[in-house]
Amino acid sequence: MIKFLDLKLQYESIKDEIDAAIRDVIATSSFVGGPYIRTFEGEFAEWTGVENCIGVANGTDALEIAIEALDLPSGSEIIVPANSFIASSEAVTRNGHRVVFADISPEHYTLTPDTIRAKLTSATRAVMPVHLYGHPCEMGPILELASSAGLRVIEDCAQAHGAKYKGKKVGGFGDVATFSFFPGKNLGAYGDAGAIVTNNRSLAERMRMIANHGRTGKYDHQFEGRSSRLDGIQAAILSVKLRHLDKWTAKRIEVADSYIEELSGLAGLTLPKRQEWAVQVYHLFVVRTEKRDQLAAYLAEQGISTGVHYPIALPKLAAYNHLGQGQEVMFANLADESLLSLPIGEHMTTDDVKLVASAVRSFFDSKRGL
Ligand SMILES: *Cc1c(COP(=O)(O)O)cnc(C)c1O
Repeated sequence: MIKFLDLKLQYESIKDEIDAAIRDVIATSSFVGGPYIRTFEGEFAEWTGVENCIGVANGTDALEIAIEALDLPSGSEIIVPANSFIASSEAVTRNGHRVVFADISPEHYTLTPDTIRAKLTSATRAVMPVHLYGHPCEMGPILELASSAGLRVIEDCAQAHGAKYKGKKVGGFGDVATFSFFPGKNLGAYGDAGAIVTNNRSLAERMRMIANHGRTGKYDHQFEGRSSRLDGIQAAILSVKLRHLDKWTAKRIEVADSYIEELSGLAGLTLPKRQEWAVQVYHLFVVRTEKRDQLAAYLAEQGISTGVHYPIALPKLAAYNHLGQGQEVMFANLADESLLSLPIGEHMTTDDVKLVASAVRSFFDSKRGL
């Protein structure tokens, strides 16, 4: 059996540290607010290389609060990649703005300057580069385009903790960036959690207030906000796990290296193409094949779990019928039938990786793949 994700095994490897951290929070009743949150915010800001970090309840809230804080004119168009999790586009609509889906690169599955440019109109006010699958977007040219078109930039880093563009970690490129600590993410809490980071201090203050009822003091509310806070137990757990993240990420990259080595050159299988400007942290290892469903079933028979990210491109979801982009000829609208995520993570041994690779190879060698 090769699992897609093994959070139990991970917990067992750090059990003493986690249990002690949770006990400390309970012993000091630091459930909401308090030292564990400030500590984690500081550690995560430093680790990401960004000045301000605000812990929030989850990665979706992080996006909603970030967009709200930018104070764009209502009905602004915001460009979002056509392949992502729905949270990316939801956060736009729920702020009273209009989602415009742009295509992604067939090599690294993220927005490109060209796909963004193709969707610019006089109403475009922002763009949301999503560093999907742990792969950074090509931020240099994207920032140039954003600056010349007067766009704000919201980076969705939910899948990309520590991914680097030209040696610098994602999160500090745009006006604001958001992270998810959903349990299955590269840095995951033991429940829902998220964060927003920015180098803009006044934006940071505004976002902190939005996430906490628009207040500065206990009952001093400057405006109506909402309740979206990182809690003490999650913060303490995240502080423990952050200390292990670089090691776990290195393991993910090692697994990806093996997959690429063992699977390159297989007719019928397209591997992700490495870009010289990118360090991908492989939240997911996504391949493409016309025989996606057959390959997934074949692997499942051998106890190998896979996933599909995502089976329906965002423009084709019922939720976005009204936008009329479901029939648009673009790579993302066609690729959803061929994407397959192979298992990856620090839980996998070298033998596990070899086993998966040889199962994939035997699928294609046996002509099932043709
Ligand atoms: C997980 C995810 C989110 C949302 O995060 P939650 O913490 O689950 O709310 C947003 N964007 C992307 C790309 C994600 O993968």
